[in-house]
Amino acid sequence: MSAKKANLSGELKKYFGFSTFKGQQEKIIENLMNGKDVFVLMPTGGGKSLCYQLPALISEGTAIVVSPLIALMKNQVDAVNGLSSDDGVAHVLNSSLNKTQTKQVFDDIKKGKTKLLYVAPESLIKEEYLDFLKDVKISFCAIDEAHCISEWGHDFRPEYRNLKSIIDKIADVPVIALTATATPKVQDDIQKTLGMTNALVFKESFNRPNLYYEVQPKVNVDKEIVRFISRHKGKSGIVYCLSRRKVEEFAQLLQVNGINALPYHAGLDQKIRVANQDKFLMEEVDVIVATIAFGMGIDKPDVRFVIHYDFPKSLESYYQETGRAGRDGGEGHCVAYYDPKDIEKLEKFLAQKPVSEREIGLQLLNEVVGYAETSMSRRQYILYYFGENFDPVNGDGAKMCDNSSNPPKLKDATNDLKKVLEL
Ligand code: ADP
Ligand code: MG
Repeated sequence: MSAKKANLSGELKKYFGFSTFKGQQEKIIENLMNGKDVFVLMPTGGGKSLCYQLPALISEGTAIVVSPLIALMKNQVDAVNGLSSDDGVAHVLNSSLNKTQTKQVFDDIKKGKTKLLYVAPESLIKEEYLDFLKDVKISFCAIDEAHCISEWGHDFRPEYRNLKSIIDKIADVPVIALTATATPKVQDDIQKTLGMTNALVFKESFNRPNLYYEVQPKVNVDKEIVRFISRHKGKSGIVYCLSRRKVEEFAQLLQVNGINALPYHAGLDQKIRVANQDKFLMEEVDVIVATIAFGMGIDKPDVRFVIHYDFPKSLESYYQETGRAGRDGGEGHCVAYYDPKDIEKLEKFLAQKPVSEREIGLQLLNEVVGYAETSMSRRQYILYYFGENFDPVNGDGAKMCDNSSNPPKLKDATNDLKKVLEL
C-alpha cells in the first residue's frame, strides 16, 4: 500500500507538477484503481477532474469521460494533451467530427494511445460509437457533473438518465461519478439512477467561509445596486437577472451611471456573447449583467461580488451562482434582492408546466423562500440544505452573513423601540 502511495504521488508530480494531493483525491484514486465505484461530492474548484484524469493516464486502456458541455470537454482535452508529450492522449468523440477525424480517434484508441475519451451522453448512444467501444479496452467510466442526472438538480439533462444501461452495454468497469451538488435528494437520485448505491462516497465540506451572504428587500433595487457597485469601483462582479430584457436594460443603466458593465444572455449573438465574456475574464470590463446562462465553467478567481437582482429559483442554483465569487479566497459579497411578488410570478410560471416539473419547482422555491425569510445564520441554512451541520457561533465564517453580523432580533428590537418612542 505504502509503495503504491509513493507511486501515486510520483505520478501526480510527473503529470501535473503538484507535490501533494488536494483533499481526498488520493483515496478516491486508490479506490477507483482498486475496482471500486466511487461517488465524489466536492465544491467547484475542489479538484474533481484530477480524480479521474490521473488514474486514466496511468491505467491500461481508455477511460470514458461523460461530460455535458462541448466547451468544457474541449478545454479539458487541450489541458490533458498539454500534460503529455504524446498527441492523442485525450480526445473528444462527437458528431462534429468528420469521417477522417473519427477514424483518427478510433485508431488512437486501438493503439492504446488514448487514455481519456470525452463524450457527451447523447453521442454515447450512437450505434457506431457503441459498437466500437464494446470491442476496445476500457479502464473505467467517469461521469462528470453527475447532478445532470437528477430533476432535483440545477441543471437536469434528460440525456443523462439512461447512462447506466449504455455503460453496461460497453463494459463492466468501475464508475466514478462527480458533482459539485450535494443536496441529499440529488445525491440519492444520482446513486439510484447509476446503480451506485454501494459506491464509496467521498464528500467534502461545501462551506465557503470567505463569502458574505446577505438578503435585502427589493425596494429601489436599481439605485441600491448602483450604489453597491459604486462602492466597489473597479472590482469584478456579476449581477444575475431573470430575463434577457432585464439583463440588457440593467447593463445599460449601469453604463449610464458610469459603471463599466456588459450584458450576457443566451439570446445575444454568439460573437457578442463570447466577446463580452472574454472582456470580463480579461478585466476589460468590471461587471457582467447576466442570466443564469452565464457561469458554468467560468473560472475567474477574483470575482468580488455576486448580486441577484431577481431571487434565484432554488437554493442549489443560488449556491452555484454565488460560488463564483471569491474563488481566490478573498472577499466575496453575495446579495440577493427579495420580493415576495417575484416569487408569486415564478409560481404562476410553474403553473403552466407539467405536474412533476411543477411540484419539484414549487418545492425548490419553498426552500429558497425559507432562506430569504430566515433569521438564522444563512451559512448554517445553506449547509443544512446540503446535509451538513454548521456551528453558527464558532464555525468557519460564522460571522459572514447579515443575520449573524447584525442579528435581526436586535434590528427588530430597535424598530419596536422606535415605534414606542414615536407613540
Ligand atoms: P472542480 O472540477 O472540482 O471544480 P477542477 O478539477 O477544475 O475543480 O480543479 C480546480 C483547480 O484545482 C484546477 O486549477 C486544478 O489544477 C487545481 N488542482 C487540482 N488538484 C490539485 C492538487 N493536487 N494540487 C494543486 N492544485 C490542484
Ligand atoms: Mg469540474
